[in-house]
Amino acid sequence: MTENMSEKEDIKRKYSYKSTIKKKYNLTDYQIEQAIEKGIIKDYKYVPNPYYSSKESLIINNEELLQHLEEIRKLEKYSEEEIERRKEYNKRSRKISKISFYCPICNAKIRPLRDSYTRDAVLNDEIDYEDAKKVVIVTHFRHIHTDYDKIRKGINNRKLVDKLKEEKTNEAIELAKKHGLLPPNFSKEDYDKVAIRIKQLYGLT
Ligand SMILES: [Zn+2]
Repeated sequence: MTENMSEKEDIKRKYSYKSTIKKKYNLTDYQIEQAIEKGIIKDYKYVPNPYYSSKESLIINNEELLQHLEEIRKLEKYSEEEIERRKEYNKRSRKISKISFYCPICNAKIRPLRDSYTRDAVLNDEIDYEDAKKVVIVTHFRHIHTDYDKIRKGINNRKLVDKLKEEKTNEAIELAKKHGLLPPNFSKEDYDKVAIRIKQLYGLT
């Protein structure tokens, strides 16, 4: 038992967890991966993860790492795949930010919901940003700044829901106009045109 403990202590002193090393020396997973692949780091091992028994953690010899730190730092930070993924992610973020808006009532930046068809249509370059943004504004106002959701809960009749939606969409448009978020001549017909187009794209009509 005691022997085991001291052995553990020795390992602790000699090796560090990959996560610790990454933070301490500002290295990436890919740099460490490459260092091992290229044989720059030879003394490493996998030990049971202290938090998840089903997983393993990589530990690396501190001394060896320090000896080769500069060399490891010169390695590529990200794999081609990671670079591509980052590019794609940034492209998507830029598109979503174009259809996001600042709501003065919420005092917050409002982004389209993750499961929104408008968001999908924009990500797939299927509709105009300006049109999409108007739908995002009206949808937000209808759900958050009218009593649409509250009343809807108590209605089971599809026709009545449609009628309610129409009424509350109008209310949302007028309210958004008051806050200068929509042009004064914007009408429910304008909103419907875009909403129908999005529905058609996804076979919802
Ligand atoms: Zn709001």
